[in-house]
Amino acid sequence: MMRIIDSRPLLDAFLGALRPAAGRAAQVTGAPPVLAIVRAAENAGSAAYAARIRATAAQAGITCHEVPLDTRMDGTALCAQVAAVSATPGVNGMIVLLPLPAGTSVPQVMAQMDPDKDVDCQQPLNLGRVMAGTPLYLPCTATAAVMLAQGMLGDLAGVNCAVIGASASVGRPLALQLLDRGATVEIVHIRTRDIADHARRAQVIFAAAGHAGLVDGAWVSPGAVLVDIGINADPTGRPGVVGDINAAAVAQQAAAITAVPDGVGPMTTGILLANTVHAASRQAGVDFTYPDLTTLAAYQALRL
Ligand code: NAD
Repeated sequence: MMRIIDSRPLLDAFLGALRPAAGRAAQVTGAPPVLAIVRAAENAGSAAYAARIRATAAQAGITCHEVPLDTRMDGTALCAQVAAVSATPGVNGMIVLLPLPAGTSVPQVMAQMDPDKDVDCQQPLNLGRVMAGTPLYLPCTATAAVMLAQGMLGDLAGVNCAVIGASASVGRPLALQLLDRGATVEIVHIRTRDIADHARRAQVIFAAAGHAGLVDGAWVSPGAVLVDIGINADPTGRPGVVGDINAAAVAQQAAAITAVPDGVGPMTTGILLANTVHAASRQAGVDFTYPDLTTLAAYQALRL
């Protein structure tokens, strides 16, 4: 029977392990670590993510500032605003939520951030560090997805993985994180011919296409592990969100699937907050190490 992986208990344990590090940074600076959120376009997905970050930050001992939404900004004004937030004293880390207004260059906007404050790991220098296998901050969604796969399977060395989606923010850093763990990775995308054939050869499928229910039963080999990163409006019009994997259609073959929205999403927020504590610690000259997942019962409980 297919297991459905809900990461909320793991997030609680992870934040509990992170909180003392936030406290150590705060003792030196006199204030909790501060994360600024910039959202430049009205969008249900980014609004929900901002709400989740705000709701979770306090649990880790982090203060969150949301820059008021101004959807009238053009690319030049947005770049100036991102640079100004980055230069604000007391802001330790920041995230610029996607999507940006139509016609705006994402790399150009992300490049305005001080790499030391780019806790979402989207500044070109930080993406390059991920490429080199020496990340400063952990790419949030990619790390969350890999973390859950490792929790379910243990060592990923030699495991065949298919990554569906090749964006700079999710698919590419995810493939690199998997390579760093010794996995064999195929990246497929909108131009790939016969994606189902590639997917069927994978022991782990990571779906990050942004297409509701794209992966169906015919794409999944028996015993496969499915990590559903997609967050999409329900095409039937029902409230709430659905993933890129049709969970009902894969239930006979798959060993496990991450829940949507409570699988990869919560741990994405957890990594963002851990990166924020890392940034505040670095800026205060305080040692920081990411919480050791292997010691957490909620992580051990993921194992299939
Ligand atoms: P994107 O639009 O930037 O990139 C989508 C990628 O998927 C592209 O490489 C495209 O070629 C590929 N693709 C699109 N349709 C496809 C199809 N039919 N078949 C094969 N490949 C296809 O999107 P993104 O920013 O990478 O986000 C992808 C999804 O992940 C979205 O649903 C987004 O909401 C979600 N997301 C989730 C989290 C999380 O924490 N769970 C975080 C970020 C993004």
